[in-house]
Amino acid sequence: MNIKIKILILVLVSISLTACPLSKGKNNQQTIAQEIVKPKYELHEIYIPKGGSLFSEMTSVGLTPQQIIEITLVFGDNVDFRMVQPNDHFQVLIDPVTNEVMEFNYIQDIVTTHKLVRDIEAQTYNYILDEKEFDKKMLIVEGVLYTTLEQALNDHNVEPVVKYAVMNALSSKVNFSAYARIGDTFKIMYEERYFQGIRVPGSRLYYISYNGKSTGFHEGYRYDEGDDKSAYNGMYTPLGHAMLVAPYRLPLDRIHVTSPYGNRFHPITRKWRMHSGVDYRGATGTPVYAVSSGRVILARKNGGFGNTVEVLHENGYVTQYAHLHRIRVKHGQRVSMGSVVGTVGSTGASTGPHLHFGLRINGRYVNPGNLKMASATKLKGNRLEKYKKQISEIKTLIINTENEPDSPYDMTLFEKYRRANAKIS
Ligand SMILES: [Zn+2]
Repeated sequence: MNIKIKILILVLVSISLTACPLSKGKNNQQTIAQEIVKPKYELHEIYIPKGGSLFSEMTSVGLTPQQIIEITLVFGDNVDFRMVQPNDHFQVLIDPVTNEVMEFNYIQDIVTTHKLVRDIEAQTYNYILDEKEFDKKMLIVEGVLYTTLEQALNDHNVEPVVKYAVMNALSSKVNFSAYARIGDTFKIMYEERYFQGIRVPGSRLYYISYNGKSTGFHEGYRYDEGDDKSAYNGMYTPLGHAMLVAPYRLPLDRIHVTSPYGNRFHPITRKWRMHSGVDYRGATGTPVYAVSSGRVILARKNGGFGNTVEVLHENGYVTQYAHLHRIRVKHGQRVSMGSVVGTVGSTGASTGPHLHFGLRINGRYVNPGNLKMASATKLKGNRLEKYKKQISEIKTLIINTENEPDSPYDMTLFEKYRRANAKIS
């Protein structure tokens, strides 16, 4: 036995001794060969056809499923796939000897190319954002509402991307359908990008304000994390609250639906009955949170709903929290997203502890699943400090843009409209 083991060890040692220098020599030869003979790569141009997909186009140029998966994973880490649309332009550079994809390029527009470049040694792709120099132009648009804000922005030839950013940010503060009035005023500042005189995508909204008879004054500034992919980039109120449409959280920390919204068969009455909300399982005493900020409009026993809290949110939606064990808020109180409004219980017509969560829009119960739940976004700490600095920079930028002497200027009885050029240093 001992002898056998010794022999085995000897054999292993001799293998490793011979293997090491051999493999090293082989590697050296490879790197030298690569340096001397520069391989010529095959270039494949891909334009995504209507109804086609990037996946099928990659297959058609001969990529293996493994290559496609590897590329799409790295690509997806760096580029939002939802941006890819029919007619979009891709380039694939393949080494004809090894069949390796050496470069994968997404030419997003005339100034922006996303490149995945093969790192042969690391067997991975490195992402490079290749952006050409472009001109920036700051624009200020001020106006008065004749019909709708959207129409007013259209009249000013505001690019759709900016238009929707404005509408989205303001919708988080203003219920346009209910409260916008003719004569309300707005002001926005945004940056357009030009390459060789042509407007290219990438416009950015920097400032927004709305002053309405019924809505009051609302304004927001752009916050930039310094990283294009950061989820924190966007419009915020001067206090640092994200101006997002429907910034909702869930009413419980853990969600388990025991009864969904809609018609259900009642086990006792044996009749179909409309269930006007969603039931979530929860132990008695579990905290129940306001899903968004608003004002408490009901906090009392309410018939079959038992102890109930209702919150009216800024956008006019009402959320309802029923069968509560304890109510923790008072009528008229302001709550923010995540405030505890009560605890899970089984008061009213209830067969066991659970939260009945309802949503009313324009006085009618709708499926609370329609609420887009998002995590709370408020800038805090260093981010808030950074944001405050950016606010003052944007304020300076507004003044500079307005005072630009050669700005096209147009004024009518009801409408001011200013456009000015300025470059951000
Ligand atoms: Zn229920």
